[in-house]
Amino acid sequence: MDAAQAGCEVSDECFALIDGNCFYCSCERVFDPSIARRPLFVLSNNDGCVISRTDEAKALGIRMGEPLFKIRDLVRRYGIVVRSSNYALYGDMSRRMNEIYATFSPDVEVYSIDESFLDLSHVAEEERVTYAKNMRETVLKWTGIPTCVGIGPTKTLAKVANKAAKKQAAYGGVCDLTDRIERDLCLDGFDVDDIWGVGAASAAKLRGMGIDTAGKLRDADPKRVRGILTVVGEKIVHELTGVSCMPMELVPPQRQGMAVTRGFSSPITDVVTMREAVSHYAVRLAEKLRSHGLVAVHGSVFMHTSPHKAVGRRHVAAEMRLDRATDDTLRLCAAAADTAARLWKGGYAYVKAGVVLTELARKGEEQVDLLSCLDTSKTDRVSSVLDEINGRFGRGMLAPASAGIAREWSTKAEMRSPKYTTSWHELPVVGSPLR
Ligand SMILES: [Mg+2]
Repeated sequence: MDAAQAGCEVSDECFALIDGNCFYCSCERVFDPSIARRPLFVLSNNDGCVISRTDEAKALGIRMGEPLFKIRDLVRRYGIVVRSSNYALYGDMSRRMNEIYATFSPDVEVYSIDESFLDLSHVAEEERVTYAKNMRETVLKWTGIPTCVGIGPTKTLAKVANKAAKKQAAYGGVCDLTDRIERDLCLDGFDVDDIWGVGAASAAKLRGMGIDTAGKLRDADPKRVRGILTVVGEKIVHELTGVSCMPMELVPPQRQGMAVTRGFSSPITDVVTMREAVSHYAVRLAEKLRSHGLVAVHGSVFMHTSPHKAVGRRHVAAEMRLDRATDDTLRLCAAAADTAARLWKGGYAYVKAGVVLTELARKGEEQVDLLSCLDTSKTDRVSSVLDEINGRFGRGMLAPASAGIAREWSTKAEMRSPKYTTSWHELPVVGSPLR
């Protein structure tokens, strides 16, 4: 199969990938200048592992994915700043950045919280680097977040260029691989493991075939690569040669499922508390469903003890009984709490639980049960009042009592910065001589 058969065309398009440099850490620094030059890292949920680190922290030997308890000594010795993750802040900063990108490109594909693909085909080839540098400066000036931009005729090459821009300061934050000679030079020195879409297992297989750089993968026989990495691998080969196989995805695909799962700050050993915890997750899920205009058709609840303990281990899950598709907070809460009670067995210390929705439908398009009461106008009204009050006064202001009030089990986030941009009570305060 050649490139045309694979649904690919020689590209005269231009893709850019822009992303925030150590994004979570940069968000933290925007609102706290005292940590602008200090080594810093951000932890995953429940203050578990390192998920973002600054260059200064990296230089001190802080690795991605490292659990906090293993590096407490380093933190103390070097005075490294540690922060819990603050997704309210990062999500809002991301939204602001994408608004700026939209003024530079007609088509923006939000790829992740800190990465977006932009269509730059409308910019003349010789002006693209200047254009991208201007965009970077605007983002920095308006949001305080430093970024890097990679430019190329395919998404895969834009990703490679972005990585190159990050690694080599000489690029000044923007690397353009449109030029064939420049591109080939870059690919020859680029590790195969670092290519977008090549996971660790695929990279090992490629290395086994003697393909250890992006340049060698570009020159490999696409059919042979397809044999071991499926059609995805074949597309990557074409993309590396400059043939675009992955168009911009401008309409986000409808979500297939959603979940709220959390580790507890301390283990749960009684059923009342467990019912509270899963009810609390169900409240959050119902909010999420409504904000996406979706209803839950099927879902389940799980709970488990620590997987690191040799004895007293238990991991259970069960389907929730939803008699019909719903986005109603109270209904979802009741179903989750009942399922938790059914699953419960005492004598264990549970460290994590979750509510997982495995099948969703657009509200109004779901299958309905002829025998059940179809009128949801009352519960819809309750839900919209709930959303309105929580929208105005902050999430969780109004919630069913069954979801608990003290919530001592709630996820650890002991070093979280304020929600500077999304909560009236946590706005940054500028010093004033009158205070
Ligand atoms: Mg990034």
